[in-house]
Amino acid sequence: MAPSDDHLFGVYSRAPIAVERGEGVRLYDRSGRAYLDFVQGIATNGLGHAAPVLVEALKAQAEKLWHVSNIFRIPGQDELAEKLCEKSFADKVFFTNSGTEAVECALKLTRKYHASKGQPERIDVIGFSGAFHGRSYAAVTAAGNEAYLDGFGPRLPGYIHLPFGDMDAVREAAASPTAAAIIIEPVQGEGGLRDLPAVCLKGLRELCDQYGLLLIFDEIQCGMGRTGKLWAYEYADIAPDVMTVAKALGGGFPIGACLATEDAASGMVVGSHGSTFGGNPLAMAVGLAAFGEISKPELLDNVNRVSAYLRQQMEGLKAAFPDMIVEVRGKGLLTGMKLVPNNREIMALARDNGLLIAGGSDNCVRLLPPLNVTEAEAREAIGLLEKTFIAAREKLKEAV
Ligand code: PLP
Repeated sequence: MAPSDDHLFGVYSRAPIAVERGEGVRLYDRSGRAYLDFVQGIATNGLGHAAPVLVEALKAQAEKLWHVSNIFRIPGQDELAEKLCEKSFADKVFFTNSGTEAVECALKLTRKYHASKGQPERIDVIGFSGAFHGRSYAAVTAAGNEAYLDGFGPRLPGYIHLPFGDMDAVREAAASPTAAAIIIEPVQGEGGLRDLPAVCLKGLRELCDQYGLLLIFDEIQCGMGRTGKLWAYEYADIAPDVMTVAKALGGGFPIGACLATEDAASGMVVGSHGSTFGGNPLAMAVGLAAFGEISKPELLDNVNRVSAYLRQQMEGLKAAFPDMIVEVRGKGLLTGMKLVPNNREIMALARDNGLLIAGGSDNCVRLLPPLNVTEAEAREAIGLLEKTFIAAREKLKEAV
C-alpha cells in the first residue's frame, strides 16, 4: 500500500494519480497506466520526461562533482551564463534554485540599483493584476493576488498593483519619484494565458526609459522557447533591463536565473546577495545540456509548427463546443482555452481519458506539452479533448 500524505503540509490540491515514471510526453502511474502529459511540471520539462540528453549530462556530472560553495568558481556557471548572455539582452547572470528566487533577486537588484545611484527612496515596484511571480513573501506581494496574501500579515511596502495592460495607470505610477521598476510577464501563465500586446510592452519600455525605472520581464513560464521564440520579449522588438528565467532552463532539474544588463546589475556587488545551492554543478550540467537543445532553431520551428496546429484544432473544438469553450488563448505552446464549465471538472474528465492538462486563472485550462512534442501527439491530445468535452456535455445533460 502507498504511504499516506498525512505528514505533508496540505497546501496542494493534488491529482489522484500515483505517478511513477515518465518518458518524453508520457507519464506512467504505478499500475502502468500511461497518460499523455500536457502539463510537464507546468511548462518545466521542456524536452519531456527523462530526456536522454539531460539524463546523460546529469549522470556524467554526478560522478564528478555535486557541490561546492559559490566561494569557488563552479564548473559550468561561467559557460551557461555566457550562453544565456549571448542569446539575450543580458550581460550578467545570477543563478538560483527556482523561479521565486530569481524574482527575489530581481526585486533586490532593483532596490540596490537605485540605492547605489544615490536614490534609495526609489523603492516602488509596479506589478499587474493576474500576475504570478512565485511564493516568497516579496514575490506574492509583487504579484498582489489576494488569495496568496491573505493571512500572511502586513504587506511589504513598495509594491503597486495596476490592472493588466492599463497604460494610463502605469504612466501615472511610473512618474512618481519613488517608482523603481515595472515587473510583468509578457505572456501570463497562471493568470490565464494573457498575452500583453507588443505595443504595450514597447510602451512600458518607453516609460521606463523616460523615468529611469528598471523593466523586469518575468519569463519563468513564457521564456525558453515556449512561445516560439527563445524569449517572449523578442516579439515586441524591445529588451528588458532584467529578466527572470527558470522552469525549462533546467528541463526539470531545479534551476533559475536572474539576467540583467551590466548597468542594472551594477549595485549587486560582493556580499549583496548569495545562495548555497544556486548554480551548483549538477544544475549547471543539466542547464547547459537543456539550453543547448532549446536554443536550436529546429526546436523553435517545432514549437511554431505544432502550436499553429494545436491552435487551429482548438478553434475547431470551440466551434464544435460553443457551450464549453469561450476562447482559445496564449502564445506558442503556452496555450489553452477559457472554459464555460468549471476547469477543474474538465481537467478531471480529461485525466479519466488519459490526458493531463493544467488549470489557470479565469477558468482556463493550459496545454503545456514539451517543446519537442510531435504533431501526432498533439493530434492525440485534441482527440482526447474532444472525447472529454463530449463526456462533459453528457454529464451536464444528466445533471439537468
Ligand atoms: N514566475 C512565473 C511567471 C511562474 O510561472 C512561476 C511558477 O509557476 C514563478 C514565477 C515561480 O517559480 P517557482 O515555482 O520555480 O518558484
